[in-house]
Amino acid sequence: GATIGILGGGQLGRMLSVAAARLGFKTCIFEPGGDCPASHVANFHFKAEYTDEDALRRFADSVDVITFEFENIPASALDVLERITPVHPGRRALKVSQDRLTEKAFLSDLGLATAPFAAVDDAEDLAEAMAEIGLPAILKTRRFGYDGKGQARIMTAQDAEQALADMNGAAAIYEGFVEFSHEVSVIAARNAAGDVACYDPGENVHDDGILRTTTVPARLTAAQRTDAVLLAAKILNRLKYVGVMGVELFVTAKGLVVNEIAPRVHNSGHWTQSGCAIDQFEQHIRAVTGWPLGDGSRYADVVMENLIGDDMNRLPQIMHEADAALHLYGKAEVKPGRKMGHVNRIMRKPT
Ligand code: ATP
Ligand code: MG
Ligand code: MG
Repeated sequence: GATIGILGGGQLGRMLSVAAARLGFKTCIFEPGGDCPASHVANFHFKAEYTDEDALRRFADSVDVITFEFENIPASALDVLERITPVHPGRRALKVSQDRLTEKAFLSDLGLATAPFAAVDDAEDLAEAMAEIGLPAILKTRRFGYDGKGQARIMTAQDAEQALADMNGAAAIYEGFVEFSHEVSVIAARNAAGDVACYDPGENVHDDGILRTTTVPARLTAAQRTDAVLLAAKILNRLKYVGVMGVELFVTAKGLVVNEIAPRVHNSGHWTQSGCAIDQFEQHIRAVTGWPLGDGSRYADVVMENLIGDDMNRLPQIMHEADAALHLYGKAEVKPGRKMGHVNRIMRKPT
């Protein structure tokens, strides 16, 4: 069978590798770290830096298609890889999602609602943004933020000054605070033939910037559910996207507001492992290898809970729970804020 190259070796790469193996593919990860979650299940591991062009070339030569589990692939690495082997999703989606400013501009060009936003490079930009967009707001680094890192809530002009100082000169984006009732996400897939399939939206609860739980079904009206799925499809089609994408949304009185997109399988899609015949990981493998998309319709109500840091102390009890599918990532060390695994609790089964 063919070999799938995966950039990144975290838990998403691990679960992609498992899904690939079930379909008869081999996987080869490219990951600078040694003892990483994906290295335990992938067939091959290129342990090298993303700046190592020779290693990138050998990696690309040894696989049939390349995908990734994180969006911060350096453009220089893509330049090398793309010339040798197809990379899915493509660089357009990567480019758009690597920078929150490009991302928001892309989304609003598509006619989708986003938080009001402005680029902030210095104190002058900040004052202008504050005057134009108002308070409360959030200042975020444009690049490399995840799990709420690199962002600060701004209630006063003083907060704003402090937040800018904390950026240490990094380019930032000022976002008006969206008054949402809750957060949902759509996990959507598109293949090269242009077929699009979306999973039922999940409702997400964050704690301290980190996803804690995803619940399906989400609290949405039928109209909101349709909106969510259609806007996700619009994003994938515009990017001629191939693969699975996570689209994070705020639910507001005025409708759905897009927060951000992730050009990869997404933590808020882990429930699909217990709620659908074809989960997001298999769906992604199908899309990037040119298979038809699988059936992602939902057949159960599921609550996905992330096991973060000390949550692992509850493992002995969780092991005894009925209808609880446990996924552990094989990380050697427990650290505060580190995602160690997740549990999918099936809340209602058909009678
Ligand atoms: P992820 O781990 O999902 O990639 P991230 O670090 O990229 O997270 P965001 O998703 O932009 O960060 O923000 C994290 C959370 O902060 C959001 O899920 C939401 O709860 C809150 N948040 C972000 N932007 C806004 C906003 N403009 N208005 C209100 N709340 C916001
Ligand atoms: Mg993000
Ligand atoms: Mg987010």
